[in-house]
Amino acid sequence: MIHAQSSGAAHLNRYRRITQLAFILFVFLIPVLDIFRFDSATGELIVLGHVWSLGLKQGFYADQSISGAAHVALHFFLKAILPWVVVLSVFPLLGYFFGRFFCGWLCPEGALFEWADYLTLKLLGRRSLYGAKGNDPDLRKSHRALYGLITLLSAVIIPVCSGIALTGFVIAPKTIWNQIMNGDFTFGVKAGIIGVSIYMLIGSIFVRHTFCKYVCAAGLMQMLFGWISPVSVRLKMDTARLGECTDCKRCEKACFMNVLPRKNKRDISCVNCGACIDACNKELEGRGLFHYSIGDSTCLAPAENCAHTTTKALSQAK
Ligand code: SF4
Ligand code: SF4
Repeated sequence: MIHAQSSGAAHLNRYRRITQLAFILFVFLIPVLDIFRFDSATGELIVLGHVWSLGLKQGFYADQSISGAAHVALHFFLKAILPWVVVLSVFPLLGYFFGRFFCGWLCPEGALFEWADYLTLKLLGRRSLYGAKGNDPDLRKSHRALYGLITLLSAVIIPVCSGIALTGFVIAPKTIWNQIMNGDFTFGVKAGIIGVSIYMLIGSIFVRHTFCKYVCAAGLMQMLFGWISPVSVRLKMDTARLGECTDCKRCEKACFMNVLPRKNKRDISCVNCGACIDACNKELEGRGLFHYSIGDSTCLAPAENCAHTTTKALSQAK
């Protein structure tokens, strides 16, 4: 019996676009709102609107008593070491609990690479610049003049805007804005904008998801900790219903990380994007074979897919 397509399960991609765009906006606003930035002109680190300092008393080095040394050590630990430990533990923790969820749902660079894939598909009829692959989506070449224009605009606007936004992490955004308005740039601002622009352009044209797979430190940390974690969120297939698979290959074609979701093996490249969940839900009209699970057994989402999944079936799949 074919069930009507459920509304929630088929829209993971739409939700993902929203989270990706929201996170890009957040990253752009971090220096503007003084959430976190380094001001190279004053040499100050700004955190949540305040100058971050070690909080040591003037002339602290003159106090050579044990309590003076303890005061310095404590402040150094609390204000310098501990914050870095917290920052550096974010991606391992994310990986341990959510796998590479950040890569698939939030990472601005991942979103840019997907946009580059889409434009390449529209212009060349394949996802990669280097040649057709078996898992290229069915989306074919169309409106090439229009997409050529969109590609040109994207190649200018996205890198330059990113360059301006990211340079704000080391040069005060107000200073950058004044220079843009006056058309008079210092070497630092020019170097920041041009450097980031070139990096973005080269990355999105020639490298794309290869960077995510083999280079990105944040991705590699999530990959490693997600791999060893017994509780990380991961993609699972309901193998008890394997017979319902129509072999349409929609799930493989949806996967921009070149994972084969039907292998149902934990793949370190899977970014938990859910594109294959959507694809299979479309094919099987809301009764798709994929879902997220916590560890190997707890069916997490989409709820509609979980409704067909039993713990027994999942344990058989192991
Ligand atoms: S296997 Fe599915 S969830 Fe994982 S990256 Fe590919 S499409 Fe996304
Ligand atoms: S999308 Fe679903 S039905 Fe189609 S090949 Fe993949 S698992 Fe099978």
